[in-house]
Amino acid sequence: MAKPVLLTVDDDREVLRAIERDLRRKYGSDYRILRAGSGPEALEIVRELKIRNNPIALFLIDQRMPGMSGVEFLAQAIELFPDAKRVLLTAYADTEAAIAAINEAGINHYLLKPWDPPEENLYPILDELLEDWEAAFPPQFEGIRVLGNRWSPASHNIKDFLARNHVPYQWLDIETADSEVRSLVELLDEEETHNLPIVILPNGVRLRQPSLADLAEHAGLKTRATEAFYDLAIVGGGPAGLAAAVYGASEGLRTVMIEREAPGGQAGMSSRIENYLGFPSGLTGADLARRAVVQARRFGVEILSAEATEVRIDGPYRFLKLANGEELSCHALLVATGVQWRKLDAPGVERLTGAGIYYGAAMTEAMSTRGEDVYVIGGANSAGQAAMHFSRYAQRVVMLVRGDSLASSMSQYLINQLKATPNIQIEYNTRVVEAHGEDHLEAISIHCTVTDEITKVPANSLFIMIGAAPNTEWLANIVERDERGFIYSGPQLTRDGKRPAGWKLDRDPGLLETNVPGIFVVGDVRHGSVKRVASGVGEGSVAISFVHQYLSKVV
Ligand SMILES: Cc1cc2nc3c(=O)[nH]c(=O)nc-3n(C[C@H](O)[C@H](O)[C@H](O)COP(=O)(O)OP(=O)(O)OC[C@H]3O[C@@H](n4cnc5c(N)ncnc54)[C@H](O)[C@@H]3O)c2cc1C
Repeated sequence: MAKPVLLTVDDDREVLRAIERDLRRKYGSDYRILRAGSGPEALEIVRELKIRNNPIALFLIDQRMPGMSGVEFLAQAIELFPDAKRVLLTAYADTEAAIAAINEAGINHYLLKPWDPPEENLYPILDELLEDWEAAFPPQFEGIRVLGNRWSPASHNIKDFLARNHVPYQWLDIETADSEVRSLVELLDEEETHNLPIVILPNGVRLRQPSLADLAEHAGLKTRATEAFYDLAIVGGGPAGLAAAVYGASEGLRTVMIEREAPGGQAGMSSRIENYLGFPSGLTGADLARRAVVQARRFGVEILSAEATEVRIDGPYRFLKLANGEELSCHALLVATGVQWRKLDAPGVERLTGAGIYYGAAMTEAMSTRGEDVYVIGGANSAGQAAMHFSRYAQRVVMLVRGDSLASSMSQYLINQLKATPNIQIEYNTRVVEAHGEDHLEAISIHCTVTDEITKVPANSLFIMIGAAPNTEWLANIVERDERGFIYSGPQLTRDGKRPAGWKLDRDPGLLETNVPGIFVVGDVRHGSVKRVASGVGEGSVAISFVHQYLSKVV
């Protein structure tokens, strides 16, 4: 924790130095001692400390200063640090100042200069005040703070990115009446408050509407590769990519894993995975991702927060271009880019995405749905899990299902859980046909396909989980894909007994190999894959043995 501050202010330089020296001698190891030569200078320091979220424990202020008196300074400073203890210094007994000080600035003590010897005249007083302050003061949050508006898509993206990357942050909603948030907002300049969200780093640096790449850089995530060449590069950090990374690195391959959002992939968004071997009471996707990342790092995997945008092949080398302009090369490339949510095509949905409408379970929004009605579209396991998760916060969760049953799309254990949860309601034969709202979602129109009626209901939160599609356009000219973009591998590439066009090796493509030797594909993005965590993990691990076979011939 950053040391709390003792701030002393005096316009007499010699006195200022003396008091700073005395404070440092006794309190320097537990507190940060700061000094200022005038009220305005001290106010600057106070504002900066407030923005950084550094606590001030005590003000030790001279009363008679030109321009701004000690009491005038304190009256402003305590608005920002109301819990700080206040000691006023004067050169002689000044009853008027003392009364003003008590009335206007709630002074705790009134100290006459000189205070020598400090052991008798200064320390006992300050000890007592600091003891009181410490006993009452709650520990401060010291990480990244995000100041924004609940309905802003950019705020949502930042919170989601930090949460999924396990970077602790504090969310400050500008719309709340919280006095801490209000006083922080007053310290920002007008341009900043018009350019929310702002990310405030612990060192006081403010990032206005940062891109995720910028945020990653400042949040301490690795965005640039340390090596120019790797034995194995993995694109995608879902279960399949993470498993490949753990197996690859543990078997001695120099391995880099590139993930554009957060390790864990879709599984990272799951509120409870109950069918993964070895976890009888289930585990959250975030937990699985965190454990896998620790394991991968332990084996020396380099994890980059970046997006792969292009692949280039040059002899035995595969070059990977990243969105930040960097390029790295490898011998074996493994594509584990999974799938992304399919978009709901209805008026208003695109405009309000991030402002009440979210794709996936958007766990970071769960707290803000407390006491509200939440709508979830979808009938697969992911939608069921999301409904169970939100039912803990929301007043009511309404699942909107296109078909007339969940039996064919959802696991029976989950159907049973949904039915046994009183605040979950399932509406079959329904589709959302419009989303309404100015700057955030206010209502949705639901079409019942049996009665053909459209009903408009108030809604602030809509979570869409209606199937997924691969995002493999960037690989279109490199690997063979089916009409929906899923990548072919192994025996799928041999047609009428013929190997894929351009294939020059005297062997067939390996089981998880694409039509380009040395480029492998695993997990949900693979044509014909079983879309489950365990199968992705299985494929990721198995692929490493094919990578070894390939490398044994290349190098
Ligand atoms: C809410 C939810 C709940 C689920 N619950 C279960 C469950 O209980 N049990 C179960 O077995 N399965 C469950 N699933 C399915 C399971 O999560 C997926 O099958 C699994 O995550 C697929 O893993 P993957 O590694 O192939 O891909 P993904 O998990 O999709 O990961 C792919 C990763 O690649 C990244 N990426 C994509 N393109 C790029 C690029 N160009 N550059 C860098 N990175 C890129 C993405 O950001 C993503 O993180 C659930 C899915 C969801 C969404």
